[in-house]
Amino acid sequence: MAKVKVATCWLDCCSGCHMSFLDIDEAIIDIAKQVEFTASPITDIKEFTPVDVGIIEGAVSNVHDEEVAKNMRANCKILMVWGDCACFGGICAMRNLFSKEDVLRRYYIETESTIKGKIPSSEDIPALLDQVKPVNQVVKVDCYVPGCPPTSKAILYALTELLQGRIPVLPSEMMRFD
Ligand code: SF4
Repeated sequence: MAKVKVATCWLDCCSGCHMSFLDIDEAIIDIAKQVEFTASPITDIKEFTPVDVGIIEGAVSNVHDEEVAKNMRANCKILMVWGDCACFGGICAMRNLFSKEDVLRRYYIETESTIKGKIPSSEDIPALLDQVKPVNQVVKVDCYVPGCPPTSKAILYALTELLQGRIPVLPSEMMRFD
């Protein structure tokens, strides 16, 4: 039987959700029998190609994140998001309490250890959005695995449900880190 193609990516995040996925330990052997990972930080393949399932970790904070989220959506049949950053904005959205200009000034000029700071500007540096957004404010999301990070049990449950043809709805006991 053909393997289910899965791509994953991370946007504004700490990688913790992908680390939690890797924490499924030996269950990854069964997953690997059923799944072919294409573009992903795990495979280090960067180019998206059409897949059955796309998975996004992290919030949408800059124009590059927006582009990646749209590219992933355009290439997957089902889009799942992992973690509070992707589901709700999470810790990344704390910057929404301040203006973008205040955040850049504080970060590059006003920190106590900075001498003669300067806000960098280059077309190679993606521009920050005015507000950090959860993924579903940019593209349609089909299923959510919240948590910071989601437990490996929750991630495994969600993947297994998808592999069995069901859109996962997490039981409430999986919403807590244990
Ligand atoms: S949800 Fe938590 S673990 Fe996942 S990327 Fe955000 S901060 Fe990191």
